[in-house]
Amino acid sequence: MRLDGKVAFVTGAASGIGKRIAEVYAEAGATVAVADLNPGGAEAAAAGLRARGACALGLGVDVTDEAGVDAAVARTVAELGGLDVLVSNAGIQIVAPLQDFAFADWKKLLAVHLDGAFLTARAAMRQMIASGRGGSMIFMGSVHSKEASVLKAPYVTAKHGLEGLAKVIAKEGAAHGVRANVICPGFVRTPLVDKQIPEQAKALGLSEDDVIRKVMLKETVDGEFTTVDDVAQVALLFAAFPTQALTGQSMVVSHGWFMQ
Ligand code: NAD
Repeated sequence: MRLDGKVAFVTGAASGIGKRIAEVYAEAGATVAVADLNPGGAEAAAAGLRARGACALGLGVDVTDEAGVDAAVARTVAELGGLDVLVSNAGIQIVAPLQDFAFADWKKLLAVHLDGAFLTARAAMRQMIASGRGGSMIFMGSVHSKEASVLKAPYVTAKHGLEGLAKVIAKEGAAHGVRANVICPGFVRTPLVDKQIPEQAKALGLSEDDVIRKVMLKETVDGEFTTVDDVAQVALLFAAFPTQALTGQSMVVSHGWFMQ
Protein backbone atom coordinates (compact mmCIF):
# COMPACT_ATOMS: atom_id res chain seq x y z
CA MET A 1 0.00 0.00 0.00
CA ARG A 2 1.83 3.13 -1.27
CA LEU A 3 0.85 6.77 -1.62
CA ASP A 4 3.66 8.01 -3.86
CA GLY A 5 2.68 11.18 -5.71
CA LYS A 6 -0.42 11.69 -3.53
CA VAL A 7 -1.19 14.73 -1.38
CA ALA A 8 -3.03 14.12 1.90
CA PHE A 9 -4.79 16.68 4.13
CA VAL A 10 -5.13 15.36 7.70
CA THR A 11 -7.07 17.32 10.34
CA GLY A 12 -6.33 17.05 14.03
CA ALA A 13 -2.87 15.92 12.99
CA ALA A 14 -0.87 17.65 15.73
CA SER A 15 -1.77 14.92 18.24
CA GLY A 16 -2.83 11.33 18.78
CA ILE A 17 -4.40 9.37 15.93
CA GLY A 18 -4.12 12.11 13.31
CA LYS A 19 -0.43 12.64 14.04
CA ARG A 20 0.30 8.95 13.51
CA ILE A 21 -1.77 8.86 10.29
CA ALA A 22 0.31 11.77 8.95
CA GLU A 23 3.50 9.84 9.78
CA VAL A 24 2.30 6.60 8.17
CA TYR A 25 1.15 8.46 5.05
CA ALA A 26 4.53 10.21 4.78
CA GLU A 27 6.32 6.87 5.20
CA ALA A 28 4.13 5.53 2.35
CA GLY A 29 5.36 8.32 0.07
CA ALA A 30 2.62 10.94 0.45
CA THR A 31 3.06 14.68 0.78
CA VAL A 32 1.10 15.70 3.87
CA ALA A 33 -0.73 18.83 5.02
CA VAL A 34 -0.80 18.65 8.82
CA ALA A 35 -3.88 20.67 9.81
CA ASP A 36 -4.79 21.42 13.41
CA LEU A 37 -6.42 24.01 15.65
CA ASN A 38 -3.06 24.19 17.40
CA PRO A 39 -0.80 25.96 14.85
CA GLY A 40 2.39 25.36 16.82
CA GLY A 41 1.59 21.65 17.15
CA ALA A 42 0.77 21.43 13.43
CA GLU A 43 4.05 23.08 12.48
CA ALA A 44 6.03 20.91 14.92
CA ALA A 45 4.46 17.72 13.52
CA ALA A 46 5.14 18.87 9.95
CA ALA A 47 8.73 19.73 10.87
CA GLY A 48 9.09 16.23 12.33
CA LEU A 49 7.98 14.74 9.01
CA ARG A 50 10.33 17.00 7.03
CA ALA A 51 13.22 15.97 9.30
CA ARG A 52 12.56 12.40 8.20
CA GLY A 53 12.74 13.35 4.52
CA ALA A 54 9.05 13.85 3.80
CA CYS A 55 7.39 16.86 2.20
CA ALA A 56 4.95 18.33 4.74
CA LEU A 57 3.13 21.60 5.44
CA GLY A 58 1.87 22.65 8.87
CA LEU A 59 -1.45 24.54 8.86
CA GLY A 60 -3.28 26.18 11.77
CA VAL A 61 -6.98 25.72 10.99
CA ASP A 62 -10.23 25.49 12.92
CA VAL A 63 -12.35 22.91 11.09
CA THR A 64 -15.54 24.74 12.14
CA ASP A 65 -14.46 27.92 10.32
CA GLU A 66 -15.78 27.87 6.74
CA ALA A 67 -13.38 30.47 5.35
CA GLY A 68 -10.46 29.01 7.27
CA VAL A 69 -11.06 25.48 5.92
CA ASP A 70 -11.43 26.72 2.34
CA ALA A 71 -8.24 28.78 2.68
CA ALA A 72 -6.27 25.86 4.17
CA VAL A 73 -7.34 23.52 1.37
CA ALA A 74 -6.55 26.17 -1.26
CA ARG A 75 -3.10 26.67 0.26
CA THR A 76 -2.52 22.90 0.27
CA VAL A 77 -3.39 22.67 -3.42
CA ALA A 78 -1.25 25.70 -4.31
CA GLU A 79 1.83 24.70 -2.28
CA LEU A 80 1.70 20.90 -2.40
CA GLY A 81 0.29 20.45 -5.91
CA GLY A 82 -3.18 18.98 -5.33
CA LEU A 83 -5.33 17.06 -2.88
CA ASP A 84 -5.91 13.32 -3.20
CA VAL A 85 -6.69 12.14 0.34
CA LEU A 86 -8.73 13.85 3.06
CA VAL A 87 -8.65 12.50 6.60
CA SER A 88 -11.33 14.31 8.60
CA ASN A 89 -10.08 13.36 12.04
CA ALA A 90 -10.17 16.42 14.32
CA GLY A 91 -12.31 15.75 17.35
CA ILE A 92 -13.07 16.58 20.95
CA GLN A 93 -14.85 14.80 23.78
CA ILE A 94 -17.16 16.23 26.44
CA VAL A 95 -18.86 13.84 28.88
CA ALA A 96 -21.92 14.48 31.05
CA PRO A 97 -25.34 12.94 31.68
CA LEU A 98 -27.97 14.21 29.24
CA GLN A 99 -29.92 16.06 31.91
CA ASP A 100 -26.82 18.08 32.78
CA PHE A 101 -25.47 18.61 29.27
CA ALA A 102 -25.00 22.29 28.50
CA PHE A 103 -26.52 23.26 25.14
CA ALA A 104 -23.33 25.16 24.34
CA ASP A 105 -21.28 21.97 24.84
CA TRP A 106 -23.67 19.94 22.67
CA LYS A 107 -23.32 22.50 19.85
CA LYS A 108 -19.55 22.76 20.25
CA LEU A 109 -19.04 19.01 19.97
CA LEU A 110 -21.38 18.63 16.98
CA ALA A 111 -19.67 21.57 15.27
CA VAL A 112 -16.16 20.09 15.53
CA HIS A 113 -17.21 16.60 14.43
CA LEU A 114 -20.00 17.28 11.92
CA ASP A 115 -19.48 20.85 10.66
CA GLY A 116 -15.77 20.03 10.48
CA ALA A 117 -16.41 16.89 8.44
CA PHE A 118 -18.80 18.71 6.11
CA LEU A 119 -16.58 21.73 5.52
CA THR A 120 -13.42 19.73 4.89
CA ALA A 121 -15.28 17.23 2.69
CA ARG A 122 -16.91 19.99 0.64
CA ALA A 123 -13.61 21.74 0.03
CA ALA A 124 -11.95 18.42 -0.83
CA MET A 125 -14.81 17.36 -3.13
CA ARG A 126 -14.59 20.62 -5.08
CA GLN A 127 -10.86 20.13 -5.56
CA MET A 128 -11.10 16.41 -6.38
CA ILE A 129 -13.73 17.12 -9.05
CA ALA A 130 -11.86 20.13 -10.48
CA SER A 131 -8.57 18.26 -10.75
CA GLY A 132 -10.14 15.25 -12.46
CA ARG A 133 -7.97 13.06 -10.19
CA GLY A 134 -10.72 11.91 -7.82
CA GLY A 135 -9.57 10.90 -4.37
CA SER A 136 -10.26 9.19 -1.07
CA MET A 137 -12.04 10.72 1.92
CA ILE A 138 -11.72 9.10 5.32
CA PHE A 139 -13.81 10.12 8.32
CA MET A 140 -12.77 9.30 11.87
CA GLY A 141 -15.77 7.58 13.37
CA SER A 142 -15.61 5.42 16.46
CA VAL A 143 -17.10 2.30 17.97
CA HIS A 144 -19.57 5.01 18.99
CA SER A 145 -20.63 5.17 15.32
CA LYS A 146 -22.16 1.74 16.03
CA GLU A 147 -22.89 1.55 19.74
CA ALA A 148 -23.83 3.91 22.56
CA SER A 149 -22.21 4.63 25.90
CA VAL A 150 -23.55 6.61 28.83
CA LEU A 151 -22.47 10.26 29.22
CA LYS A 152 -21.72 10.69 25.49
CA ALA A 153 -24.94 11.96 23.87
CA PRO A 154 -23.44 14.43 21.36
CA TYR A 155 -20.37 12.27 20.63
CA VAL A 156 -22.45 9.17 19.82
CA THR A 157 -24.85 11.30 17.77
CA ALA A 158 -22.02 12.87 15.79
CA LYS A 159 -20.15 9.62 15.20
CA HIS A 160 -23.32 7.92 13.93
CA GLY A 161 -23.87 10.93 11.65
CA LEU A 162 -20.47 10.58 10.00
CA GLU A 163 -21.52 7.21 8.61
CA GLY A 164 -24.41 8.85 6.79
CA LEU A 165 -22.21 11.61 5.41
CA ALA A 166 -19.64 9.13 4.11
CA LYS A 167 -22.32 7.07 2.36
CA VAL A 168 -23.72 10.14 0.59
CA ILE A 169 -20.23 11.16 -0.53
CA ALA A 170 -19.58 7.61 -1.75
CA LYS A 171 -22.67 7.87 -3.98
CA GLU A 172 -22.18 11.47 -5.14
CA GLY A 173 -18.43 11.06 -5.56
CA ALA A 174 -18.44 7.84 -7.55
CA ALA A 175 -18.82 9.57 -10.92
CA HIS A 176 -15.73 11.64 -10.09
CA GLY A 177 -13.57 8.81 -8.74
CA VAL A 178 -14.06 9.96 -5.14
CA ARG A 179 -14.36 7.25 -2.46
CA ALA A 180 -15.48 7.81 1.14
CA ASN A 181 -15.09 5.52 4.14
CA VAL A 182 -15.21 5.61 7.94
CA ILE A 183 -12.77 4.19 10.50
CA CYS A 184 -14.31 3.17 13.82
CA PRO A 185 -11.62 2.79 16.49
CA GLY A 186 -12.10 1.45 19.98
CA PHE A 187 -10.41 3.23 22.89
CA VAL A 188 -6.94 4.57 22.05
CA ARG A 189 -4.69 6.13 24.72
CA THR A 190 -4.45 9.69 23.41
CA PRO A 191 -4.93 13.03 25.21
CA LEU A 192 -8.65 12.82 24.26
CA VAL A 193 -9.05 9.59 26.26
CA ASP A 194 -6.66 10.49 29.08
CA LYS A 195 -8.79 13.57 29.78
CA GLN A 196 -12.03 11.59 30.11
CA ILE A 197 -10.71 8.92 32.50
CA PRO A 198 -10.91 11.15 35.62
CA GLU A 199 -14.12 12.79 34.29
CA GLN A 200 -15.84 9.42 33.83
CA ALA A 201 -14.53 8.21 37.21
CA LYS A 202 -16.18 11.16 38.90
CA ALA A 203 -19.45 10.89 36.97
CA LEU A 204 -19.78 7.11 37.41
CA GLY A 205 -18.42 6.89 40.97
CA LEU A 206 -15.62 4.52 39.90
CA SER A 207 -11.86 4.55 40.38
CA GLU A 208 -9.82 5.59 37.34
CA ASP A 209 -8.50 2.03 37.09
CA ASP A 210 -12.06 0.70 37.00
CA VAL A 211 -13.00 3.19 34.25
CA ILE A 212 -10.19 1.69 32.17
CA ARG A 213 -10.90 -1.96 33.00
CA LYS A 214 -14.70 -1.99 33.41
CA VAL A 215 -15.77 0.71 30.94
CA MET A 216 -13.14 1.23 28.26
CA LEU A 217 -11.71 -2.26 27.84
CA LYS A 218 -14.39 -4.53 29.32
CA GLU A 219 -15.90 -5.46 25.96
CA THR A 220 -12.58 -6.11 24.22
CA VAL A 221 -11.50 -9.70 23.56
CA ASP A 222 -8.09 -9.22 25.20
CA GLY A 223 -8.21 -6.21 27.54
CA GLU A 224 -6.00 -4.18 25.21
CA PHE A 225 -6.23 -0.59 24.02
CA THR A 226 -6.30 -0.04 20.26
CA THR A 227 -3.15 1.86 19.21
CA VAL A 228 -2.65 4.90 17.03
CA ASP A 229 -0.73 2.69 14.62
CA ASP A 230 -3.60 0.17 14.37
CA VAL A 231 -5.85 3.03 13.26
CA ALA A 232 -3.24 4.55 10.93
CA GLN A 233 -2.79 1.24 9.09
CA VAL A 234 -6.54 1.14 8.35
CA ALA A 235 -6.31 4.76 7.21
CA LEU A 236 -3.54 3.71 4.82
CA LEU A 237 -5.67 0.90 3.43
CA PHE A 238 -8.62 3.21 2.77
CA ALA A 239 -6.36 5.88 1.22
CA ALA A 240 -4.36 3.57 -1.04
CA PHE A 241 -7.02 1.07 -2.11
CA PRO A 242 -6.91 1.09 -5.90
CA THR A 243 -10.56 0.70 -6.95
CA GLN A 244 -14.06 1.88 -6.12
CA ALA A 245 -14.83 -1.55 -4.65
CA LEU A 246 -14.01 -0.07 -1.24
CA THR A 247 -16.35 2.88 -0.74
CA GLY A 248 -19.25 3.75 1.54
CA GLN A 249 -17.88 1.38 4.18
CA SER A 250 -16.88 1.55 7.82
CA MET A 251 -14.23 -0.58 9.48
CA VAL A 252 -14.14 -1.20 13.21
CA VAL A 253 -10.67 -1.54 14.73
CA SER A 254 -11.31 -2.12 18.43
CA HIS A 255 -9.96 -5.45 19.75
CA GLY A 256 -13.50 -6.75 19.43
CA TRP A 257 -15.05 -4.00 21.64
CA PHE A 258 -17.72 -3.89 18.94
CA MET A 259 -18.31 -6.68 16.42
CA GLN A 260 -20.28 -6.01 13.22
P1 NAD B 1 -6.36 14.08 20.37
O1 NAD B 1 -6.96 14.96 21.40
O2 NAD B 1 -5.06 13.41 20.65
O3 NAD B 1 -6.22 14.86 18.99
C1 NAD B 1 -7.27 15.63 18.48
C2 NAD B 1 -6.68 16.78 17.69
O4 NAD B 1 -7.77 17.49 17.10
C3 NAD B 1 -5.91 17.76 18.58
O5 NAD B 1 -4.61 17.99 18.05
C4 NAD B 1 -6.77 19.03 18.54
O6 NAD B 1 -6.01 20.24 18.59
C5 NAD B 1 -7.47 18.87 17.19
N1 NAD B 1 -8.69 19.65 17.12
C6 NAD B 1 -9.66 19.77 18.06
N2 NAD B 1 -10.58 20.65 17.66
C7 NAD B 1 -10.21 21.09 16.44
C8 NAD B 1 -10.75 22.02 15.52
N3 NAD B 1 -11.88 22.69 15.78
N4 NAD B 1 -10.09 22.23 14.36
C9 NAD B 1 -8.94 21.57 14.09
N5 NAD B 1 -8.37 20.70 14.93
C10 NAD B 1 -9.00 20.46 16.10
O7 NAD B 1 -7.50 13.00 20.06
P2 NAD B 1 -7.49 11.60 19.28
O8 NAD B 1 -7.83 10.57 20.28
O9 NAD B 1 -6.29 11.44 18.43
O10 NAD B 1 -8.80 11.79 18.38
C11 NAD B 1 -8.77 11.95 16.98
C12 NAD B 1 -10.09 11.46 16.41
O11 NAD B 1 -10.27 10.08 16.72
C13 NAD B 1 -11.32 12.18 16.99
O12 NAD B 1 -12.27 12.41 15.96
C14 NAD B 1 -11.87 11.17 17.98
O13 NAD B 1 -13.25 11.33 18.21
C15 NAD B 1 -11.55 9.88 17.27
N6 NAD B 1 -11.52 8.70 18.12
C16 NAD B 1 -10.68 8.63 19.18
C17 NAD B 1 -10.68 7.48 19.96
C18 NAD B 1 -9.79 7.35 21.16
O14 NAD B 1 -10.04 6.43 21.96
N7 NAD B 1 -8.77 8.18 21.35
C19 NAD B 1 -11.54 6.41 19.66
C20 NAD B 1 -12.38 6.53 18.56
C21 NAD B 1 -12.36 7.67 17.78
